[in-house]
Amino acid sequence: MPELFDQQALPVAPQDKGRMKPKTIEVVNNILAIAWDDGHESYFELEALRRACPCAMCKGETNVMVEYKPPPQTLTPSSFDLRGWQYVGGYAIQPQWADGHASGIYSFQYLRGLDTAP
Ligand SMILES: [Zn+2]
Repeated sequence: MPELFDQQALPVAPQDKGRMKPKTIEVVNNILAIAWDDGHESYFELEALRRACPCAMCKGETNVMVEYKPPPQTLTPSSFDLRGWQYVGGYAIQPQWADGHASGIYSFQYLRGLDTAP
């Protein structure tokens, strides 16, 4: 599995919110709720979370040799249905969506950056 992600550039959060880690991650209805170890709580709608998928298929990637722009994707209701997720390397989570998409690795820093609440 890891070789699949070697080329993936992890997005950088808009601002550095430090090295926070989730204490708990729960899915309630269509919301992914994260309680961070600094006491902050984040709530992400699954649809918004999927649309923010940072993987190369969704967001494209650029390296020195090539720029890859993905074709527009057709997202269906199952694209926003979270089947499950797993921790990756202690710095990220990898959601598995009901439409079979599971290549997005959301670093904690990226998730925290997606949270627009102060
Ligand atoms: Zn993706």
